[in-house]
Amino acid sequence: MFDVAIIGTGPAGLSAALTLKLHNKDIVWFGSAELSDKVGKSEKIANYPGVAMVGGADLNAKFRAQAEELGLEMTDKRVTNIADMGGNYMVLADNEVFEARTVLLATGIAAAKGMENEARLLGAGVSYCATCDGFLYKGKTVAVYCTDERMEHDIKYLEEICGKLYIYTSFGYTTEAVNAEVLKLPVKKLDGGFKCDSIELTDGTKIDVDGVFILRPAIAPSTVMPGLEMDGAHIAVNRNQETNFKGCYAAGDCTGRPYQIAKAVGEGNVAAHAILEYLSALEKGE
Ligand SMILES: Cc1cc2nc3c(=O)[nH]c(=O)nc-3n(C[C@H](O)[C@H](O)[C@H](O)COP(=O)(O)OP(=O)(O)OC[C@H]3O[C@@H](n4cnc5c(N)ncnc54)[C@H](O)[C@@H]3O)c2cc1C
Repeated sequence: MFDVAIIGTGPAGLSAALTLKLHNKDIVWFGSAELSDKVGKSEKIANYPGVAMVGGADLNAKFRAQAEELGLEMTDKRVTNIADMGGNYMVLADNEVFEARTVLLATGIAAAKGMENEARLLGAGVSYCATCDGFLYKGKTVAVYCTDERMEHDIKYLEEICGKLYIYTSFGYTTEAVNAEVLKLPVKKLDGGFKCDSIELTDGTKIDVDGVFILRPAIAPSTVMPGLEMDGAHIAVNRNQETNFKGCYAAGDCTGRPYQIAKAVGEGNVAAHAILEYLSALEKGE
C-alpha cells in the first residue's frame, strides 16, 4: 500500500512529489517520461521565478534532473480508473492495480472535449485502454480514435486481434494491415442504446462497430473517478486542495485558471502539506 498515488508528472505533480519524497512518503507517480508536454512545448517562459526567459524544454529538463536527484521514479502507465475503497484508493493503470491511502490528481486540463455519448457508453462498448479491454474484441469490428502518438503500440495491438479496425489518428498514422482502414475524418459521435454499436464521422458517415477505443493523453477526471465534484470543467477543491473525496486532492490546471506553472507548483505544494497532515492523523488513528 502506497502512502500517495500522484497522477500527473507536470509542475503540480512534481512539486507535490518533491515535498512528499523529502518527507519519506511512499509514492507511486503516474505520468510521462517527458514530465509535461505543455511545459515542453512552451517557447519561452518569462514569469517563472528564478529562471528568466527559460525555454520550456530546458525547464522540463531541470524539473527532470531535480526529480532524479531526489530518487523520484515515475511510471508512464495511464490511469483509467480510481475507486474509493472507504479509507484507501484503488488506482487502475494500464490494467494494473495500485493501492494508496491518498490520491493527488494533477492531470492538467484535458484539451479534448468528449465525443457525444462518450460518457454514457463508457464501459458499454467504449474503452480508454486497449491493453485492458482489447481481448474482448478478438475478431470483432472496432474503431480506434487516437490523439497520442505514444499509444501507437495500442493501435498495432488492435490490428493484430480485431477482425476489422477503423483507425483515426491526429498524427498521420499509416498501416499495411489488411484488416485495417485509416479514416480521413475524425469521429464526432458514438451511437447505441445499451451498448455502442456505431460511430458517426464529422461528415455524417455512419460505421457499424462492436466497440470503440478512445486513446487520448488525458482523460476527464470525472470520468476516471466517478462522483468527483466538478466546478464546470475543473475539479472542485477547497483551499487545502481537498476534493469531495476524503484523502483525495487535486492541484494545477485541473482545478482551474489561471493555467500557469507558478500556480500549479504552488497548489502541488499546498496539496502535499495537506496530505502529510492527513497521513499523520491517520497514523494517530484520528
Ligand atoms: C504552448 C503553451 C505555453 C505556455 N506558456 C506558459 C508560460 O509562459 N508560463 C506559465 O506559467 N505557463 C505556461 N503554460 C501553461 C503551463 O504549461 C501549465 O499551466 C502547466 O503545465 C500546468 O501544470 P500541471 O501540472 O497542472 O499540468 P500538466 O503540465 O498539463 O501535466 C499534467 C500531467 O498529467 C499527466 N496525466 C494526465 N492524465 C493522466 C492519466 N490519466 N494517467 C497518467 N497521467 C496523466 C500528463 O501526462 C502530464 O504529465 C503554457 C502552456 C502551453 C500549452
